[in-house]
Amino acid sequence: MNLINHKTCPLCSNADISPLFKCKDWFATGEEFEIHKCSSCGFVFTQNFPDEKEIGKYYESPTYISHSNTKKGFVNKVYHMVRSIMLQRKRKLIESLTLLKNGKLLDYGAGTGFFAKAMQKAGWDITAIEKSEKARKLASEELGIDMLPEEALANIANNSLDVVTMWHVMEHIQDLDRAWSELYRILENTGIAIIAIPNCISYDAQKYKENWAAYDVPRHLWHFTPSTIMKWGEKHGFILERQYTMPFDGFYISMLSEKYKNASFAIIRGFWNGLKGWIAQCSKRNASSSIIYVFRKRL
Ligand SMILES: [Zn+2]
Repeated sequence: MNLINHKTCPLCSNADISPLFKCKDWFATGEEFEIHKCSSCGFVFTQNFPDEKEIGKYYESPTYISHSNTKKGFVNKVYHMVRSIMLQRKRKLIESLTLLKNGKLLDYGAGTGFFAKAMQKAGWDITAIEKSEKARKLASEELGIDMLPEEALANIANNSLDVVTMWHVMEHIQDLDRAWSELYRILENTGIAIIAIPNCISYDAQKYKENWAAYDVPRHLWHFTPSTIMKWGEKHGFILERQYTMPFDGFYISMLSEKYKNASFAIIRGFWNGLKGWIAQCSKRNASSSIIYVFRKRL
């Protein structure tokens, strides 16, 4: 298997990187991957992850809820309700940050296309890029939305977008430097990048350590904190303008982490720890399980 090995820190190029612990791929293969940390900038990442050609099989599991559109069962009902609340919240956030009601937006890593569709319905001019052919086909059949493959990114004109959104996508991208420089190239000078990612110093991450479900190796290649994502942005000409907590993620991740630990009463324990995390992030936003970051170009 072709593995990507980092001899130096991908963020700051410091050579002093060392292992933190091993995490298991609970989702697909049961294989273990090491998590490493840079002693200088504090960046945390998955070491020796499979390259683009090999990573596909790690995404294959029949229970992947993000790719499911069934409304059967209680859990799915809750999932659809939360998704609908989040779609509205995301649109309102974008409209308040840009003061636009119908700007140009790229949803990079559009998944099954629900966010792109909701924004299109609200009047936005949407481009949606999604790497998975399966997801693109599903979005076209179910929602009537045309999504483009990854290669389309290079064809987007310079300074042409008001907003680029990446909802839980950045942690999956192999070539981070390229992604950030493309963001800088395609955004208008007044444009914003909205990046939602798990936070590996959150309440739940500290509670569950190597069993924290959002390490999600080897699909998650990078494990950001508010400090390291800010440094990634700065490296590529951006300034971090704002950050927002994501109130529901901690519950889901805590329940999943308990399930992985094979704990008895996993749902109840997970919900309880989710609640403690939720209380923690009310007073300390860096305790939030996932965070939405807003970046602008430094001009
Ligand atoms: Zn570093």
